Amino acid sequence: MSKEKILIIEDEKDIVKMLDYNLRKENFRVFSANNGEDGLDMARKENPDLVLLDLMLPEMDGLDVCKAVKNDAKTAHIPIIILTAKAQEFDKVVGLELGADDYVTKPFSPRELIARIKAVLRRLKEKDKLPEIMNIGDMAIDFSKIMVSIKSKPVELTSKEFELLKVLIKAKGRVLSRDYLLDSVWGFDQALEIQTRTVDVHITTLRKKLKSESKRIVTVKNYGYRFELDADEG
Ligand code: CA
Repeated sequence: MSKEKILIIEDEKDIVKMLDYNLRKENFRVFSANNGEDGLDMARKENPDLVLLDLMLPEMDGLDVCKAVKNDAKTAHIPIIILTAKAQEFDKVVGLELGADDYVTKPFSPRELIARIKAVLRRLKEKDKLPEIMNIGDMAIDFSKIMVSIKSKPVELTSKEFELLKVLIKAKGRVLSRDYLLDSVWGFDQALEIQTRTVDVHITTLRKKLKSESKRIVTVKNYGYRFELDADEG
């Protein structure tokens, strides 16, 4: 598994520097933007595991960034922790209603913030946990044994194909970009043309092997793929 990515959207350079240093020390990968618009852009492009979001930002207000992230199907799943100045009147109800997962009041200690980040990520993982065995149509997947069968007949998948299938299923119908798949399955940070094609090649072989269930892997043109679950399987 690749390291978790944190996106910092904050215009105060000292805070960014301090966060960057402390988060890297904790083995996170860190990106930052110093205004709301760039931050939103990066959230879409980088698909971070979590966003730290300041409220008073140039170009685009933090709450608007929060709203935009949560209203976009491609980014809605990304948890957000709001950084708010004490003097500032922040209505935490509004923040949480907009979909923020937590908020921290400035000044905060890096230790406190990192504990909150880890708690949010842990909560999310619990929520995302897959059952050990899943039955999807004709397909049965045993995640602990890394085994897939179609109509009780075992399907031979390579480890990458299995990972790819798992990441797709885990997204519960959400569209995943090629870059995101590349990053989660292969751990490539930077997507090059040739690498994104790797995703397509593996999707093709995966579809062949999944036979009657292959139609569940849906191509989203110029973007990526999603895995279709039946209504009662989500
Ligand atoms: Ca600010």
